[in-house]
Amino acid sequence: MAGRSQALRRLQAYASLALDAFLLRRDRPYLFILVINDACNLDCFYCASKNTGRYELDYASVRSALSEAHDRGHRALVITGGEPMLWRSGGAALADVVSQARGIGFLDIAVFTNGTFPLDADGATLIVTIDGTRDAHNALRAGTYDLILDHVRRARSKVLASITISKANERELEDAVRAIAGTRLFEGITFNLLTQSPDMVSRHGLCGQERVRVLDRLWRLKGQGYPIILSRAAYRALRANDWRRPVKQIELFAGGHLFQCCRDVGRPEICLECGYSSCAEISQALEGRPSAVLQLLRAK
Ligand code: SF4
Repeated sequence: MAGRSQALRRLQAYASLALDAFLLRRDRPYLFILVINDACNLDCFYCASKNTGRYELDYASVRSALSEAHDRGHRALVITGGEPMLWRSGGAALADVVSQARGIGFLDIAVFTNGTFPLDADGATLIVTIDGTRDAHNALRAGTYDLILDHVRRARSKVLASITISKANERELEDAVRAIAGTRLFEGITFNLLTQSPDMVSRHGLCGQERVRVLDRLWRLKGQGYPIILSRAAYRALRANDWRRPVKQIELFAGGHLFQCCRDVGRPEICLECGYSSCAEISQALEGRPSAVLQLLRAK
């Protein structure tokens, strides 16, 4: 019964968002990204948002950020870091933040984690980074592949895998997707194309036609039945790199600052080559593309 009323509230929230976006042409916020900390136990070469000490929030700040976000209209929440499973404040841990957010009225809650700690965040979708095949992931992420799978096996919530695609792992992308799907531990596979400064992207990421080829490969994998999270509309938009950005309905809160879309919003050189697939997905849903709307409704 509780599950049904939750599903109904979720549908109502999306219907009201659609009304604002399509009929009233109002850019109401919907997805709130909370950077809860920046402490991380790993040292991935492409990550610029770890261990700077600038983004640690205490529980009081977390609670007020969540309730202010809810008041502005947000109903979907992504908690990220650093590594959010490391977050503590007084006696509180991440599981308390998830139930606090649910109590405030957030309907879709996800936690982005490196998966190297027990996945203790009941009621949230867990998005766990798996950066390629076992070998590629272990080279990039300190030999943590098996430890992560062990934690995913014990998780009590829905788990998605997320691959950050770079030169370091794109060659074996098909093998990685087959291996991840073969574990039967993940309900879907999402991805980002390495998004960073142009210098970092030209050295380690994919540019121009390389991106197009990798997107085509992902689309083929989806066609073969692998659970790639990518709507037809987002695939086309990413391929043509013509989706509208920054996405006004996304806000990110980090270190006491609120950013529209993400921290790189004022940097067109990064934004123009944005490879965050979920942003492209949301942009397409907000333009009313049916495949992207369906994808959004399925995600929770
Ligand atoms: S790089 Fe630009 S488009 Fe991509 S998430 Fe950040 S602000 Fe949005």
